[in-house]
Amino acid sequence: MCSLILLITSQNSPLSQAFTYHPSPTHKHITSPTYTSHRMTANVIDGKAIAATIRAELTNKLSSLPSDIKSRPGLAVMLVGSRKDSQTYVRMKQKACADCGMESFLEEYPNGEEVTEDTLLTKIQEWNQDDKVHGILVQLPLPKHISEEKILREVDPKKDVDGLHPANTAKLFSTSTHAGAVKLNWKDFTSIPFHIPCTPQGCIELLDRINDGKGIDIEGKNAVVVGRSNLVGMPVAMLLLHRNATITIVHSRTKNIESILQQADIVVAAVGRANMVQASWLKPGCIVIDVGINSVDAPDTKRGYKLVGDVNYAEAKEVCEWITPVPGGVGPMTIAMLLRNTVNSWERATGQKDQ
Ligand code: NDP
Repeated sequence: MCSLILLITSQNSPLSQAFTYHPSPTHKHITSPTYTSHRMTANVIDGKAIAATIRAELTNKLSSLPSDIKSRPGLAVMLVGSRKDSQTYVRMKQKACADCGMESFLEEYPNGEEVTEDTLLTKIQEWNQDDKVHGILVQLPLPKHISEEKILREVDPKKDVDGLHPANTAKLFSTSTHAGAVKLNWKDFTSIPFHIPCTPQGCIELLDRINDGKGIDIEGKNAVVVGRSNLVGMPVAMLLLHRNATITIVHSRTKNIESILQQADIVVAAVGRANMVQASWLKPGCIVIDVGINSVDAPDTKRGYKLVGDVNYAEAKEVCEWITPVPGGVGPMTIAMLLRNTVNSWERATGQKDQ
C-alpha cells in the first residue's frame, strides 16, 4: 500500500479577501449587513430525489431481469439491543429492500446485554455460507461487552456491504498509483470490485449527480473533510483523493479550522456537532456536503426536537453555491448506496459481473 501524507497548512486569509467572489448572474444577490460583498442563495442538493432516482434504477434493473434468473439480491441485517434509533434504521433498510425487489433477512437480539459474541459470530458464519445472502449488515452500535471489531471482521469481505471489513478498508486506502497497479474507475462505483462504505459513497454520488446530472468536476479542487472517523471522515477523504481532489482532514485537535475551511472548494462536514461550521468559515461559491445528524430542542414543534446538520445551514446557504440540507441530503443516500452495494455483491456472486 502506498503511504499517504496529508499536508495541513494553516493559512491566514482575512475574511475581506475571502469574500471577493463574484457569483454567476443566475444566482440571487442578497445584500447583507454582515458580509460586505455579493451573496448568493445556494442551490439545495436534493438528496431525497437523487436517492429516489438511484433506487428506481435498481428497481428497474431487478424488475427487467431475464426470466431464467430466479435469484434475487438478499441483505441480512443483525440488530442487537433495543435502541429505538437502530430499530428505525433497520426498518427503513428492510422496507427499502422490499420496495426495490430485494430480499431481506433480520436477526434480532432484543436482550442485547445477554447476547454473547459467540452467538453473533455463529450467525455471521451461517450468513457467510448462505447463497441467498449477498450482503451482511451489522447495525451499529453494538452493546459495550461485544467487540465491534471482532464481529465486523467475521463478515465475509465479499458480503461486507457496509464496507467496514479491514480487507475492504485496505483496498480503499490503496492509492493504486504505483506501476502495475490495477487502474480502477473511481467515476463508476459499480465497477469497483470491493465494497465502499455507504455514507461516504453517497457523498461523492451527490457531487456526481448535481447540476441536472452533469455533476461537478472534483479533480483539482481543494476539499476539506471535517472529522476523521472510520465510518465517514477517513473514507470520504480517500474517495475525494481517488477523484484527484487535494484533501485536508481537520479534526478536534486542528488549529485554525476556520482559515483552513476558507480555502475549501468542497467541504464535507462529519462531526456530530450541531451547526458548528459557520458561514464566515466558508469560501463563497463552495460546495457543502453536510453529513451531520444532530437532534436539537425545538419546543415549537410537535416532537419537541428537530434534526440539524454540522453546518449552520440558514447562513451557509447564503455563501456557498451548493449545499445539502439536513434532513434530506446525505441521509437518504446512505440507504440507496447500501442497496446498490448489495446488488453489486449479488451480481458478482451470480456471475453477472466480474469478481
Ligand atoms: P464520530 O464521532 O465517529 O467522529 C466525529 C469526528 O469529528 C471525529 O473525527 C472528531 O475528531 C471530529 N470532531 C469532533 N469535534 C470536533 C471539533 N470541535 N472540531 C473539529 N472536529 C471535531 O462521528 P461519525 O463520523 O460517525 O459521524 C459524524 C456525524 O455524521 C454525526 O452527526 C452522525 O450522526 C452523522 N452520520 C450521518 C450519516 C448519514 O447517513 N447521514 C451516517 C453516519 C454518520 P477526533 O477524531 O479528533 O475526535
